[in-house]
Amino acid sequence: MTEARKLDCESAVADCRFIIQSEDEEEAIALAKRHMKDVHGQEYTDEELREEHLQVV
Ligand SMILES: [Zn+2]
Repeated sequence: MTEARKLDCESAVADCRFIIQSEDEEEAIALAKRHMKDVHGQEYTDEELREEHLQVV
């Protein structure tokens, strides 16, 4: 069974419905990083995203 990584932006930033889901962790982190920067103007490190925001689904 393949695990996917999911980031639900709403859990990090209130009122954002953006959801990323990917079977590729690197890709999920890259997409999350770009979204956080472009949409929310916040810089997150890979570690922060991986440890605090990504869920395994
Ligand atoms: Zn967002």
